[in-house]
Amino acid sequence: MSTPEILYMVVPCYNEEEVLHETAKRLKEKYQSLIERNLISEKSRVVFVNDGSKDKTWQIIQELHQADPAFFSGVNLAHNAGHQNAVLAGLMTVKELCDMAITMDADLQDDINTIDAMVEKYYEGNQVVYGVRSARDTDTFFKRFTAEGFYKFMKVMGADVVYNHADFRLMSKRVLAELANFKEVNLFLRGMVPLIGFQSCSVYYERAERFAGESKYPLKKMLAFAINGITSFSTKPLKLITTVGVIMSILSVIAFIWAFIVKIAGHSELGWSSTMCSIWLIGGLQLLGLGIIGEYVGKIYAEVKARPRYIIADFINDTDAEE
Ligand code: UDP
Ligand code: MG
Repeated sequence: MSTPEILYMVVPCYNEEEVLHETAKRLKEKYQSLIERNLISEKSRVVFVNDGSKDKTWQIIQELHQADPAFFSGVNLAHNAGHQNAVLAGLMTVKELCDMAITMDADLQDDINTIDAMVEKYYEGNQVVYGVRSARDTDTFFKRFTAEGFYKFMKVMGADVVYNHADFRLMSKRVLAELANFKEVNLFLRGMVPLIGFQSCSVYYERAERFAGESKYPLKKMLAFAINGITSFSTKPLKLITTVGVIMSILSVIAFIWAFIVKIAGHSELGWSSTMCSIWLIGGLQLLGLGIIGEYVGKIYAEVKARPRYIIADFINDTDAEE
């Protein structure tokens, strides 16, 4: 192989003090073996993005950087911007410094040994390499059920995502440059990256349990994430209202004709219950419709304001430091 290229790992961290040391240790070992195999350049780095943690996360990142400036870098966000924004903040900070970047969670759930395969696929000409979970045995039944339902529901709703792929992926410098042109505020990276195109492929790995600490994605956040994904990438919910509206109209014409026949036949009674039912049904449908429209209006509002998606307070990185 000719000169090895520069790999930057971007690792978002929110209250991850319990896992950071272990993650750093394992990543360093992995990098050393990749450098020995001449797969990545010695200028490669691991960049931890501190997403407004309340614990010692940033302190640990700073210590790691001081102990090993030629290896660990850190980005400190001014406030908690959320996982997706933290990942983007890291990627946009390093996009000029690397040839390829891999995003990975801090909790060691993604198998570090997949990095080899990702880098190899990159040299084969792939601009994006998706890390895909082959099994979810280690997730609780509840997490597995909700997460797999999420991917299926996304597809039905018209937002195309890679099944069982989260945010463990390799992207080339070219892809990062294109990603920089996406100006949307409601980030859903796993939907945006496939939109960029270029040659891509998947590598499969088994997802492990969280090394320590607990999930920062409780059900509430996961639901919000799913709704964000659908409304950011698909207008199917809007079209669904139209479909329901058309069906309701046809049904009401039939019901009208039926009521008319009953009336002429002289069997009609004052139908209090049916009236009540229709009021509730139509009221409910209208509210649902309004709710979905409101979701989009809220997004237009956020996009129009075009607020910065993150604000970086510090960036520590020694590109020239010796190994
Ligand atoms: N994370 C973040 N900001 C947040 C929430 C999470 O940067 O507001 C990071 C977190 O530190 C971890 C990754 O995003 O590295 C994924 O979170 P987690 O492992 O808690 O999610 P799960 O794997 O349970 O879905
Ligand atoms: Mg996790």
